Amino acid sequence: MTESTFKLTYATMFNPPEELHRQYEDALKKVKAQLGKNYGMIINGKERYSAEVFENRNPANTDEVLGVFQKGTRQDVEDAVQSAKTAQIKWKRIPWQERVAIIRKAADNIDKRIYELAVALSLEVGKNRMEALGDAAESADLMRYACDQMEANDGFIHRMGKDPLAGYDATNISMMLPYGVWLVISPFNFPCALTGGPAGAALVTGNSVIIKPASDTPWAPRIYVECLLEAGVPEGVVNYITGSGSEVGQTLVEHPFIDGITFTGSYDVGMRIYRSFSQWIYIRPVIMELGGKNAAIVSKNADLETAAIGIMRSAFGLQGQKCSACSRVFIEEEVYDDLVNLLVTLAEKITVGDPTRREIYMGPVINRNSYQDYQNYIDDLRKSGRILTGAKVFTEGDYAKGFFCAPTFVADLPLTHPLWQQEMFLPITTIAKVDSLDQAMTYTNQVKYGLTGGFYGTEEEAAWFFDNIEAGVVYANRPQGATTGAWPGFQPFGGWKASGATGKQAGGLNYLQQYMREQSRTLIRRIS
Ligand code: NAP
Repeated sequence: MTESTFKLTYATMFNPPEELHRQYEDALKKVKAQLGKNYGMIINGKERYSAEVFENRNPANTDEVLGVFQKGTRQDVEDAVQSAKTAQIKWKRIPWQERVAIIRKAADNIDKRIYELAVALSLEVGKNRMEALGDAAESADLMRYACDQMEANDGFIHRMGKDPLAGYDATNISMMLPYGVWLVISPFNFPCALTGGPAGAALVTGNSVIIKPASDTPWAPRIYVECLLEAGVPEGVVNYITGSGSEVGQTLVEHPFIDGITFTGSYDVGMRIYRSFSQWIYIRPVIMELGGKNAAIVSKNADLETAAIGIMRSAFGLQGQKCSACSRVFIEEEVYDDLVNLLVTLAEKITVGDPTRREIYMGPVINRNSYQDYQNYIDDLRKSGRILTGAKVFTEGDYAKGFFCAPTFVADLPLTHPLWQQEMFLPITTIAKVDSLDQAMTYTNQVKYGLTGGFYGTEEEAAWFFDNIEAGVVYANRPQGATTGAWPGFQPFGGWKASGATGKQAGGLNYLQQYMREQSRTLIRRIS
């Protein structure tokens, strides 16, 4: 594939160039001509096939088999862990500058295959063109950011002070060293960025990696692993293993040779993994990026056009299946009716359908479970609240074989209703009228989650919002998205409270250190 002549940043690219569409369409033709391949796992650099397999089907057209993937076994887990453990010994010893060069090359390989990756992401996740390209581009940028951080910190090797000991010279060095074998478990909604970001950080710091992608989306992570191997990541240093979370994933989590985990996914699974991983004779690091229940607050002083577009994008981008999706909106009563009218007008203009088509904004939800959940929530919300728009599934014609849901805004849901608390992870956003910004903030913080938040109002009000909201990523007056669209190097991304474990955010200054442990080295020489 040819390289692009422009920089892809999906949160800022409102009007992408023609070239982007042309390259995407070329890739779509090529990829579609080869659907249904049997993809091995990659263990110790070799393809590994199982007796049992599973199909990866297109959620926009479930007749279409995108690929066949392996159900890994206990033996596959054992072999992957052993090879990662052995390979890490050499990997950690190569100079960090060489690791940086290899990971940068892998990021370049992602750029070279970005349209192929984007098509895979559109087909397996249901991402529209910009969302799909954004996911792939973000994985490369997260890796580059990790490389830049290694350089900015001189490989995290620092000379410390000399002890004032007469007659002796001291050499004191602080070194950050890798833990060993790092497990990366990724979710279905960002299969590339949330595999590539953590794996890139683990690798560049000298860990070996085992990747376990979500069973709905094993394809893009497989292409990502190929990009690593083609860049020169040695055999065994990266391993890719597929199969169900409750079997393959859990077996990996329980393996005594796993030295650290980055898990991105739901709160319930994350907490289970956290508890399970702590059942060991010492404490090992675990980075958790979990769910969200993100709110936007709109003041009576807000620019309502900006607020409406930002909220709409964050509520319904990727069908509301982003951890950062805007699922709650609190609006001051003075502007409530006007903003609601704008939101409904925008939602009704949203195009739903095959996400590979240029004009489509919302693709299908990921699978039959999500599709059924949507219908169950809508039944409940119809009884307990007032549907403003949406609240239906599409089943006719081209929609018949996919999981297509309408973007839905709901008003007048009592604030005591459990759906104000629960992450639905669907294109459903509830809206409430508030008497004051203080009241909005109380409701906003009254959930266990604390991932992202958005605000529209004056700059003084925005300062108050930043100081009071309990969330890791917060935006004010942003048209690109009220609560979504963080980019490495610009908005470090991670959650507080039930949304994350460490408070050190991906694509930010404090992330990479989590993949290393410090060794303080002191050497004393007698000089008199
Ligand atoms: P999920 O159901 O929790 O699954 C996430 C991953 O965990 C998948 O690879 C899954 O494999 C695996 N898994 C399941 N059970 C496991 C177990 N017992 N042991 C080890 N691994 C196990 O989440 P999802 O539906 O893919 O993703 C949506 C969730 O992720 C939402 O809650 C969303 O908010 C959250 N998310 C958070 C962030 C963030 O940065 N905070 C970003 C994206 C998504 P299988 O697919 O094979 O079950």
